[in-house]
Amino acid sequence: MLRWSIALFRVFGIRLEVHATFVLLLVAAGWLGASNGGAAGVVSSVSTVVLMFVIVVLHELGHAFAASRYGIRASRILLLPIGGMAEFDSIPRQPRREILIALAGPAVNFLLAGLIALFFGWSNSPSAAGTPANWAEVPDTLLAVNLIMGTFNLLPAFPMDGGRVLRALLGLRLDYLAATRWAARIGQTIALTIATAAVTYELVAADNGLWLLAVLFLFIAYGAETEYRFVRNREFYAGLIVANVTRSDYLAFPPATTVGAAFATLRHTVSQDLLLIEATGPVGLVPRSRLAAALRAGREHDPLSRHADHEFSVLQAEWSLGPVVADLARGKQRFFPVYSYGRLIGVCDTGRIDEAVRLIHHIAPRRNR
Ligand SMILES: [Zn+2]
Repeated sequence: MLRWSIALFRVFGIRLEVHATFVLLLVAAGWLGASNGGAAGVVSSVSTVVLMFVIVVLHELGHAFAASRYGIRASRILLLPIGGMAEFDSIPRQPRREILIALAGPAVNFLLAGLIALFFGWSNSPSAAGTPANWAEVPDTLLAVNLIMGTFNLLPAFPMDGGRVLRALLGLRLDYLAATRWAARIGQTIALTIATAAVTYELVAADNGLWLLAVLFLFIAYGAETEYRFVRNREFYAGLIVANVTRSDYLAFPPATTVGAAFATLRHTVSQDLLLIEATGPVGLVPRSRLAAALRAGREHDPLSRHADHEFSVLQAEWSLGPVVADLARGKQRFFPVYSYGRLIGVCDTGRIDEAVRLIHHIAPRRNR
């Protein structure tokens, strides 16, 4: 779902992208504005949403600038309807650095709130939740938005900024993965409690608007899980490449081999997928289940190529394992020819990667870093 993003432009070399659902938010704001104040209402509410997201971008840039002090680059800032997300090349393991980077975002909001208060004054009635009815209310709205955004992000609900601070603090005592797990579980407890409270209040008091808050916190709970799994995978596969889980003892046949002949060669057991190979390299994959099914259906005279997948991806032995596993989880293919410098060196069966990695960890236990 994070893939539906539209690239806008670059700010300080960082790619700025908006998620497709963001367009829905603009439409909703326009519709709300129209029902409140006609055409002028549309203009003011849509521009308020745009201004809010300018603030979100500034918040994310705050993180990016703090990170750049430690030589960590942000590759993109993604705007979702629920807020922004800066993606970094890496996240520092040093608690002090993670804390400073996490706090830099909310710091931008408090700075902006201070500047707005300084230049426009502080009104007694900021119309925080609603859209401003006229232009005079815009500074007040933006002031309130900054205060709310800054405070809200400091909630210790991982993966929000406050939750990152919490993980860094836990990281003083625990290893990185355990700290992330605890931060995620605490964050989820907080997020689900707030979401439940919001729904309960909504059902009892029927005060509009809290549904949105509940949805937002459900997203946060989901985000905590996603990021925890990401970290867990990265730790599990850290330092490994595809070559580490590549088997060189693959079964390969010419495409014209019959199902029956292949089966006879395999001594009546098929425990692996088969590779169809011509002089040019692999031209097809035959899943073991399909070979068995072909035999059961009495197709032993069929050439293997009739039961093969001819469209398939290949892996490069030098690729880092973590990102590859994450990518593979999204696709259907489970068996891959592996290449190194243009040469076929073996195969990788994704169902057996974790087993192989566990074995590697067992042989060479590594310290938590
Ligand atoms: Zn932030």
